[in-house]
Amino acid sequence: MIIVHTAEALSETIGRAAGEGRRIGFVPTMGALHRGHISLIDASRSLTGFTVCSIFVNPTQFNNPEDLKKYPRTIEQDIDLLEAAGCDLLFLPDPSVIYPPDYKPPHYDLGELETILEGKFRPGHFQGVCQVVDILLKLVRPHALFLGEKDFQQCMVIKKLISLTGQPVDCIICPTMRETDGLAMSSRNMRLSAEERAQSVMIFKTLLFMKENIAHIPLSDLKKSAADMLESAGFRVEYAEIADASTLKSMDVRDGQQRPVGLIACHLGSVRLIDNMILL
Ligand code: AMP
Repeated sequence: MIIVHTAEALSETIGRAAGEGRRIGFVPTMGALHRGHISLIDASRSLTGFTVCSIFVNPTQFNNPEDLKKYPRTIEQDIDLLEAAGCDLLFLPDPSVIYPPDYKPPHYDLGELETILEGKFRPGHFQGVCQVVDILLKLVRPHALFLGEKDFQQCMVIKKLISLTGQPVDCIICPTMRETDGLAMSSRNMRLSAEERAQSVMIFKTLLFMKENIAHIPLSDLKKSAADMLESAGFRVEYAEIADASTLKSMDVRDGQQRPVGLIACHLGSVRLIDNMILL
């Protein structure tokens, strides 16, 4: 695996691969890699001829400075995992490579997506995500971009970004990888204590409860029961929502046309966790 730190070395290496007629696949990450990230590398390797991964803990998408400070960083282990997975190129930029001193953040018109769910609880978060993804896509110029369904709303935001900027890239959404007890893999899971790790499975159980009961319980009652289940298990719930998977608009009644998705964000101790599940 080639490791580069600058935009020039990145574009030269990718230019060479593209010049050989290889399709470029791109997996942007913030590091502290786990099997969920590696599943995106695997998907890229199976669908493209040259896989690029970036590791950059993007400061502009953290609305909480404490969260940024505590974000896990495990770069040596990440490099080993990427080597073993057969990643071709790792881009490890310094912040000044992504955000030069004269960088002026554009405003991305994300519409309602920015004011609901994650957008509501993490003000500015999706503008930060769009800033870094826009810059990375311009640097990498991939044919295909691989994203995890674990970040359901982020996938929709990035698709919107791509439609706003008109960049010619295919977006491929990969399924959520889970631990054996159902907890969605996340870099933040390493910050859970043993006791919190045991409790955390309740998020998956609550999503399953939503899925099992969506046809039987009115949606407003189901959402309330889901939030109650989590609160009684010691979580601080930000949302336990059921929304239309194609718009993320909150659903109050099932009309038989919409595909409902359950979405949860909650805090366990000092760790914020999110997960989702298609319910029908
Ligand atoms: P992050 O490093 O958290 O910014 O995530 C980088 C990419 O990996 C994003 O597209 C995430 O949605 C994806 N990802 C994170 N966790 C998982 C998971 N458990 N399963 C599949 N993809 C994931």
